[in-house]
Amino acid sequence: MATLADPAHPRTPRRVAFSRAARLNHERADRAAASLVATLSIYQDGLSRGARYKAQYELNEVQRLYSLRQGIRRCRQGGRRCESALCAVCSTARASQNRRSLLDSLTTAQHGTVLLWTPTIAEAPGESLRSHWSALVQVFQTTTAGGWLKRRGVSGTARAIEVEHTAAGWHPHGHLLICFPKRLSRDAAREFALTLRDRWIVKAAELDRHASPQGQHIALIGASDLHRAARYVTKSRIRANASDTPSALWSSVRDGDADALSLVHELEAGSFRRRAWTTTGTCRPVLDLDDLLASGAS
Ligand SMILES: [Zn+2]
Repeated sequence: MATLADPAHPRTPRRVAFSRAARLNHERADRAAASLVATLSIYQDGLSRGARYKAQYELNEVQRLYSLRQGIRRCRQGGRRCESALCAVCSTARASQNRRSLLDSLTTAQHGTVLLWTPTIAEAPGESLRSHWSALVQVFQTTTAGGWLKRRGVSGTARAIEVEHTAAGWHPHGHLLICFPKRLSRDAAREFALTLRDRWIVKAAELDRHASPQGQHIALIGASDLHRAARYVTKSRIRANASDTPSALWSSVRDGDADALSLVHELEAGSFRRRAWTTTGTCRPVLDLDDLLASGAS
């Protein structure tokens, strides 16, 4: 494996084979299940606290050298943080903030039924991440246009877009919590889910994209699983020794993998100025009095 640790030429690493460990992570057949398993994992990895701290520190340093984003390269200079969702230093605080804010909203408003939807569209061979991301958002916008969700009684949504890289290419996909103020019967929830799924597939086809019926998982979230679901949709962050694509790619770069570096650069360019986290209605952050005063309310 080629070594990248040459700060004099950080932009011109040699191309080497993608590391075997990273490949195993990225090519799992059941990607959704794999990420869910990672989220719901009840054990820590075998590394000591010191080793985990060191791995995270190395990841921060490698981002400082190799990130395309000036904000990430300069993060913490002069005490300022970049707040980027792709920054190893800032993404964890950002994810926690989103999670706290979402849980706050979910407990403030009246919620009956909550669904967790994972919409996807198929990869187009050789397609850039940016183009795939745009297509995904476009299908989402046409599916929900004209207040479609609201007319069916949805009071709020929280949407995360996560990016995976697989043997087939870039695979951005959504994770959405869909909240109803009232409790739906199981049949009504199922009917809504099937209608939404079918509409997604039709709207994708209208935009010349393929969306497979098997690729659009919708789950009913019980009251006791609400915290877990909120954690799941806000889990995206860059950590050492994590198996999600952005973390695994950066960890591979840290280990000297030049192919992983070209992929993180695609990831950084492809997600530039794209919103990976959006909330609507009752899932929007609850304003407290300080926020209201700060926003100029009297
Ligand atoms: Zn940062």
